[in-house]
Amino acid sequence: MKKILLTWMVLLMLLPLSACGKKQEKIEIVDDNYRNVYEIFVASFNDSDGDKVGDLNGVTRKLDYLQEMGYTGIWMMPIHRSPSYHKYDVIDYYSIDPAYGTLEDFEKLTEEAHKRDINIIIDLVVNHTSHLNPWFIQAEDAYAKGNFSPYLNWYNFSHEPQYGYAEKDGIYYEARFVDSMPDLNLDAKEVRDEIINIMKFWVEKGVDGFRLDAVTSYYTNDIQKNVEFMTWLNKAAKAIKPDCYIVGEAWTSDVEIRQYYKTGIDSFFLFSLSQGEGVLAQCVKVDKPIPQYKNALRNAVSIAGDYIPAIFLDNHDTNRITGAIGRTKTNETKFAYGLAGMLNGTLFTYYGTEIGMVGSRKDENKRIAMLWDSNKMDELCKNPPDTTQTEYAYPGVKQQQKDQNSILNYHKQVNYLRNKYPEIARGTVAFNSDLSSGTVLVFEKTYGESTVCIVISFDKEADQTVEGIEYTNCEFVSASGGKAELKNGALTISPQTIAVLSGKGE
Ligand code: CA
Repeated sequence: MKKILLTWMVLLMLLPLSACGKKQEKIEIVDDNYRNVYEIFVASFNDSDGDKVGDLNGVTRKLDYLQEMGYTGIWMMPIHRSPSYHKYDVIDYYSIDPAYGTLEDFEKLTEEAHKRDINIIIDLVVNHTSHLNPWFIQAEDAYAKGNFSPYLNWYNFSHEPQYGYAEKDGIYYEARFVDSMPDLNLDAKEVRDEIINIMKFWVEKGVDGFRLDAVTSYYTNDIQKNVEFMTWLNKAAKAIKPDCYIVGEAWTSDVEIRQYYKTGIDSFFLFSLSQGEGVLAQCVKVDKPIPQYKNALRNAVSIAGDYIPAIFLDNHDTNRITGAIGRTKTNETKFAYGLAGMLNGTLFTYYGTEIGMVGSRKDENKRIAMLWDSNKMDELCKNPPDTTQTEYAYPGVKQQQKDQNSILNYHKQVNYLRNKYPEIARGTVAFNSDLSSGTVLVFEKTYGESTVCIVISFDKEADQTVEGIEYTNCEFVSASGGKAELKNGALTISPQTIAVLSGKGE
């Protein structure tokens, strides 16, 4: 911790003081797990070899883009050999799916990412495997024939029908999601040993951590057993790599997530903040959102306790946030990301959300090709099979890069502020009720010896002025295309604008 503090304090001293403005400086990234993480579905992201299937080398080629955008981490959705387009049913945990490339490509990707201060986490899907995984094929065959197999104990079998079980060859096996995804027996020591081997293997290949898929299904409806298993898994991961970052997908209530934070796992996604019905989208929709946003600020920290909140608006399983807010509501779409970005924790962005991509209902629609250039539609990756929505609400990356008011440039500015001011993701929150008003929220965040003041105008129509500001520097991000100006202790702030003030008492 001390080293980190020192690093960024030195860094802040080196930075030129800037006035209100959008010019971005190159900043040193704090090397901890409070990051801006970009979630990638590889098949739809970027193709490097002309077969129209996105691949690892395609991701490597976009690392400069991701760095320029201020992302400091990547979460790769499953990359292992798998029979499905989504790859959440693994055949071989020690492989790269041939459609995505090779282990060598992966090592190159992690190496190049690290050069750019970008960490890589990969999906770890251990609730279930593919039914085509050799472990299952051998175990199922042995159980059906009454033979011995070292894999017999790796899955849960029965000769009688049971709830949550699928049938094959007159026997039954646990498969909570679909028949083609048999659940692993996580009580088996052999399975746990194998999970350790898998984690070791990928840490050696350069990964910085794992995203745990479907943790509430490890032991369905048994929170205590899930806590026991994840406590074990987290210790095992930390024994391999002490700063191994683990984020769990517990798609459940804040109350249950609070329990899972007892496992010592770094992060759990806070689903209550995400999606169209979630707190952040509500904060851009309702008339008086300040109480809700204050609760979000408090809750994120309180639920995570000593650990790191995982903030997100949408992911590969949810309707994309742009459509959920309204595909013509550009300012609100931007503002939701700004509000997410001012919360404590690690901020996850699903690929394409930074350009306002849409997609809803079927999973395939939520995972369509990344739009790099609206004028080169023929160069896009193939969409997943059975996609039914393929339209884009906004132009591609190339077009949005040239537009100062684009969703993309808004995201870039939010990421920049989070990278430049470590207090935003890590600081202790103190509300300033004297300076706040009906539509403007003022709060400070203190991290180590340093404090910034964040001023958010939720006003949808008029400029607001906040008097009595004790800070000297102001940077901002405005969803309405406005600005924030600080003069003689008075801050004038446009609608739907966030100002980050620093230099207290200077
Ligand atoms: Ca390819």
